[in-house]
Amino acid sequence: MSGYPDVMDKLVSLCKRRGFIFQSSEIYGGTGSVWDYGPLGVELKKNIKDFWWNAMVRSRDDIEGLDAAILMHPRTWEASGHVAGFTDPLVDCKQCKARFRADKMDPKKLEANVCPNCGNKGTLTEPRLFNLMFKTHMGALEESSSIVYLRPETAQGIFVNFLNVQQSMRQKVPFGIAQIGKAFRNEITPGNFIFRTREFEQMEMQFFVEPGTDMEWFEQWKAKRMQWHFDLGLSPDRLKFHQHDAGELAHYARAAFDVTFDFGGTLGDQEIEGIHNRGDFDLSQHQQYSGKKLEYFDQPNNKRYVPYVIETSVGADRVTLATLVNAYREETVEGESEGRVVLGLKHSIAPIKAAIFPLTKKDGQPEMANRIVDDLRSAFAVDYDETGSIGKRYRRQDEVGTPFCVTVDGQSTGDQTVTVRDRDTLAQDRVDVSQLKGYLAAKLVG
Ligand code: ATP
Repeated sequence: MSGYPDVMDKLVSLCKRRGFIFQSSEIYGGTGSVWDYGPLGVELKKNIKDFWWNAMVRSRDDIEGLDAAILMHPRTWEASGHVAGFTDPLVDCKQCKARFRADKMDPKKLEANVCPNCGNKGTLTEPRLFNLMFKTHMGALEESSSIVYLRPETAQGIFVNFLNVQQSMRQKVPFGIAQIGKAFRNEITPGNFIFRTREFEQMEMQFFVEPGTDMEWFEQWKAKRMQWHFDLGLSPDRLKFHQHDAGELAHYARAAFDVTFDFGGTLGDQEIEGIHNRGDFDLSQHQQYSGKKLEYFDQPNNKRYVPYVIETSVGADRVTLATLVNAYREETVEGESEGRVVLGLKHSIAPIKAAIFPLTKKDGQPEMANRIVDDLRSAFAVDYDETGSIGKRYRRQDEVGTPFCVTVDGQSTGDQTVTVRDRDTLAQDRVDVSQLKGYLAAKLVG
C-alpha cells in the first residue's frame, strides 16, 4: 500500500467529464481495456510525445527517428522470440472463474493454492501459457500461410531497419534509432484505466554500441531517462529504479532496470519504463532468420561486428496516466467556501496554455477577448469562455490544468490592460495587451 492517496476513480471521472479519455465504443457497452483520447487528452498525450521526441531525437546528433509499419513479415516474430515465448502464465479459479497472471500473484497465495478473489483453497489450476500477440490475416485467404501479427512492441521495426538507417544517414556506432507507435497485446489481466490496455503507444529507442562499451552506455541511459521523468514534472519521491534479478530477466536481456512510479493506493509502485541491455540478441536473431548480414563496419579500425543494443522503452499512455496522477490535487482556497480541484501539470504539457474570459458579455469585452484569442492562437493552445461566473470559469480551467487565465474587464477596453491569473499561486498581474504574448511566453517557458 502506497503512502500516496488513490485518486484513480476521481481521475477516471474527471477524464470523461472534461474530454480527456473515453471508453472505446462506449455506446455499445465499451471494448475491454481500450480507450479513446478526447480533445484535451489528445493534446496532453501529444505534448508528452513531443517532449520525448525533442529530448531523444531533435536535440541529439546521434539518434535518428523512424516510423516503421505495424504489420511486419511474420518471420520477424519468430526471430524475436515472440511466437514461441511471448506468453503469460495464467491461473484460473475453477470456483469463481477469475483469471490471474501467476507472475503477478502473491507467491504465498499461489503456493498455498488460495484464490485471491473468492478465497477458496485448492480451486486454482496449474499455470498455463497464453500468447499475447493478436493474429490476423493478410490478403484474401484466411489460411495459415497468410497469418500476420499486430506488433506487440515497436522495437523490432527498428532492428530490421538498423542498416537502412545507419547507411542512409551515414551514422557511426554508437548511435540510436527512436520511434513512437502503437503496439497491441492481448493482455489477460488488463485494467487500472490506461495503465494496462490492449492497444497502447510506446516510445522506444534502441542505441547501438560496440560490444564491451555496453554497460557504460547502459548506466548513461539509466541516468538520462530518470532525468527525463523529473523534467516531465513527475515528483522525484514517486520515482524509483527496480532492478531485475536473474529470475526476472527477459530471454534477450543482459541487464534490466525498470523506472517505477508510485501511482498511490493499492496500485503503488509500478513500471512505467524499461531500460534493457539486449546484447546482440536481436540483430543476431534477425541475421539468422533473414540470412542477411546485420554487421557494422568500423572503417577506421577495419573491423566488423554485430553491435550490442541498449533499449529504453516507455509507454506513452502509462506516462500520461502518471502525469495525471502526479498532477491531481484538491485544495481549499482562502476566503472561499468551495474547494478546488487542480491538475498541476507542467506548463509545457498542459493541453490549454491560457484561457481568455470577458468579465461580462457587453461593453465590447467579448470582442476584445476574441481579438486576444486570435492573436495568441498562433503561439499557444488557447480557450475562450464567456459562460458562468468568473469563479466557475477559473475552476473549470484549474481542473484541466490551464496555467493562465486572462480576464478582460471594465478597465481593459479603456486602458488596454488585462488581468492574468496564475493557476498555482492565484496571483493576478495587470498586463498591457501589447505585452501579453511575450509575458505568457516567458512564464510558460519558466
Ligand atoms: P508489464 O510487466 O507491466 O506487462 P512489460 O515489462 O511487459 O510490462 P515492456 O515490454 O518492457 O513492458 O514495455 C515497455 C513499456 O511499455 C512499459 O514500461 C509500459 O510503459 C508500456 N506497456 C507495456 N505493456 C503495456 C500495456 N498493456 N498497456 C499500456 N502500456 C504498456
